[in-house]
Order: sequence, then structure tokens, then C-alpha cells
Amino acid sequence: MKVAAIDIHPLRVPLKGVFRNAHDVKTHQDSIVVCVRTDEGPVGLGNVDPDPGHSAESFAETLKAVRMLAPGLVGRDPLNISAALELMDRALPCHLDAKAVLEMALFDLKGKALDQPVHSLLGGRLRDGLRLNGWIGMLEPDEAAREAAGWRDAGFRSVKIKLGSGVESDRERVAAVRGTVGPAMQLRVDANEAYGVDEAIRLGKALAPLDVALLEQPVARSDYAGLARVRRAVDMPVMADEAIVGPETLVEVVRKEAADIVKVKVMKQGGITRTVRMVDMAEAAGIRCVIGHGFGLTINTLSELHVAASCANVMEGCESVGPLKMGGDVVTRPLDESGGWVAVPDAPGLGAELDPSELERWSVPAP
Ligand SMILES: [Mg+2]
Repeated sequence: MKVAAIDIHPLRVPLKGVFRNAHDVKTHQDSIVVCVRTDEGPVGLGNVDPDPGHSAESFAETLKAVRMLAPGLVGRDPLNISAALELMDRALPCHLDAKAVLEMALFDLKGKALDQPVHSLLGGRLRDGLRLNGWIGMLEPDEAAREAAGWRDAGFRSVKIKLGSGVESDRERVAAVRGTVGPAMQLRVDANEAYGVDEAIRLGKALAPLDVALLEQPVARSDYAGLARVRRAVDMPVMADEAIVGPETLVEVVRKEAADIVKVKVMKQGGITRTVRMVDMAEAAGIRCVIGHGFGLTINTLSELHVAASCANVMEGCESVGPLKMGGDVVTRPLDESGGWVAVPDAPGLGAELDPSELERWSVPAP
């Protein structure tokens, strides 16, 4: 089998509302979908949802990189994912988001060609289904508390609260949520780099009585020593997110003892293979992983569910909940995550079929 052609589709999909975190105010998601076609029939689907403030490159740069990398894969064996990754690395340094979308499509194609779900290609699934984690933006305390009650009532057992509006304001938001949901719900908080080290320590101490399960990326992504200082000073696990990109960044976290948990995403880590490697590296260092991305379509989300299902070191409370916020999708059966739990797909590949009319509907001209 050979790759015959790769179609690249830039999309803009509206969100179900307006979402605010320390980086951005979002009303829509720009995404890229690729279809890898072969001379023998199977088609592989990949999708990334680049995120300004998180992604190293802009959406336009990622799209350009996908267009540059894709022709190099045409004519090659689509089942040899190691060779594809090496080829892309030689062609272009960095650009992990662009490499992720192509590698994801090759995984989907390989699963379809071998009649196996992607989790089987990763060794097999350890669980039938995955609990999901809810998400609350940087809202006023009463609004945040109302949303938290909604997540709880829908069946979610954990929720992440976005922080970054000031230590006291953040504490009030978390206190309002805790006061509403009671002790049973796990609360995670994410400051998206909003604080300096001393303020982050103040924040951690202010939140300690509220039983917070993890404090995510309170300081700038490049400040590994600062993150380590926060970790030593506060009485709750610290998670690195923006600070974790390529493997060298995880080595830095390990060396500096900067985090108890690291956040991985298939897009951010440069594909499924590299995400699994990062999860394994973290495990060797005694660091747990949370997987997930907040905004995105079903295909990208499925790739993370397959990784989560096959890696024991990925914590429960999967944050791959993009489809909950999307006002559209490109597959025939978008993931239904509304009950706080999803079954791990056992269909060949990632487990999604493209809906051509929906793909057309959200397509935009190339920037
Ligand atoms: Mg984060």
C-alpha cells in the first residue's frame, strides 16, 4: 500500500458559547483536518485544533507546515509511522502540531487497514471507558458555582476551574464552587501562566483549605525553577502544561523537580507515538499524566481517548472534552461526552467516519 494523496482542509467551527481563560477569549475554533488517501482504498483521518497561547506556532504557520510536509509522505508506506516521523523531522524542525495531524491520520489508516482500533496498535486498552473532566472558565463566583453544579448533575466527578483574575478573585471562584458541589467532586485549577512565583505561592496557600486536587501551570512556561519553587511551597500537586512540549521539556521538569503531574496532548506532543513516549518517560520519573485538550473536534479527541485507554500512567478524569464546546463537527457521529463518561471506541482506526457535507460546511479558504 502507498499514500496516493493527502487532502488538507482548514476549518473554522463556532463554539457553543464564549470561553475565557488567562490567554484568550474564544468564540470559534480554527482546525485542520487531513485525509490520507491510499492506492488500495483505506483513508486515514487526522485533526488538530491549534490553540493561540498554547501552540508554539500560529494556525497559519501550522497549516503552511502541513502543506509542506504532506507531499513528502505521498508514495510512501502509510503503515510505517516511524519512517514518516523521521522523514517529517528531517524536513522541518519543531512544528509538532503539524506533524501530529499527519501522524494521527496514519494511525487511523493503519488501524483501518489492519482492522484494529488504535488502542490495539498501542498495546491494547486497559479500560472499557473513560471518566471525563468538566471545565469552568474565568467566571464570576456565582456563575462558576452554577456551572459546577451543572457538571455534577450531568454525571461529572471532577472539574477544572480557570484562574488568573487575581489571587483573591481566584480564591472566591474556587470557594464558591467548593461550597456548591461539596467535598465529593474533584477540583482542578489552571492559571495558564498568569502569575509570578511569589503570587503563585500565595495562590496555592489561599486555595489549600479548599481541597484542590492540582494546581496547573501557575507561572510562565519557561520558568522551570520557578515552578519548582511553587511546588516546594504549596501543599497540593503541581501540574505542568504549557511547560511540557518536546521530550527535552519533560527532562527539564524532572531535573528541576518542577511538577508532580504533567499535562499531555496529542497535538502538543507531536502525535500519538510521541504522546505515549512522554507518558512512559513521565512514569519512569514517578510523574503522573493528565491527557486532554479543551477545544476541538471528535477526531483529535478520539486520538487522546485511545492513548488514555492504553496507558496506566494517565490519570482518571480525561480532559479531552473539546466536543462539548463545539457548535459543529466533521464526523457522522460526533462524540457524546455530555454524561461525563465515554466508551473507548473499538471500531477500526480512531473510530470516526468523515461527514463530507459537514466538512464542506465548516471549510474556510486558506489564510
Ligand atoms: Mg492548561
